[in-house]
Amino acid sequence: MIDIKNYDNNNIFAKILRKEIPSKKIFENEYIYAFEDISPQAPIHVLVIPKIPFCSFNDFSKKAEPKFIYEFMKSINLIVEKLELKEGYRLITNVGKYGGQEVPHLHFHLLSGKQIGGMVST
Ligand code: AMP
Repeated sequence: MIDIKNYDNNNIFAKILRKEIPSKKIFENEYIYAFEDISPQAPIHVLVIPKIPFCSFNDFSKKAEPKFIYEFMKSINLIVEKLELKEGYRLITNVGKYGGQEVPHLHFHLLSGKQIGGMVST
């Protein structure tokens, strides 16, 4: 089970941020890094991560500076505009065991390119 209380500097997204392992960059600014999911669940499946270490959305919403939260959320929209997702998209973040979180660095899944299926799978 992943630990989302204590940040693990060796999680895979921390390594991607440090460029220790490769990723296919979609967008980057001083707050955010976005890259293709290695196992896409839709024609467009981008992972959006903050450049500051937060274990999950919980951690982020409790600890991040208001300016950082604001800039991070605004930056997601810059990706939407860059990818021209005019027909819409789904934005998901999984938290902890029940949420199905596998990587303990906050990430949003940005899914589009077709009509995304049911809200949850059992
Ligand atoms: P979650 O289950 O919400 O924690 O999602 C983790 C996501 O990270 C999954 O969709 C994986 O396919 C994706 N993933 C894992 N390793 C990599 C990687 N090296 N590069 C890109 N995506 C990855």
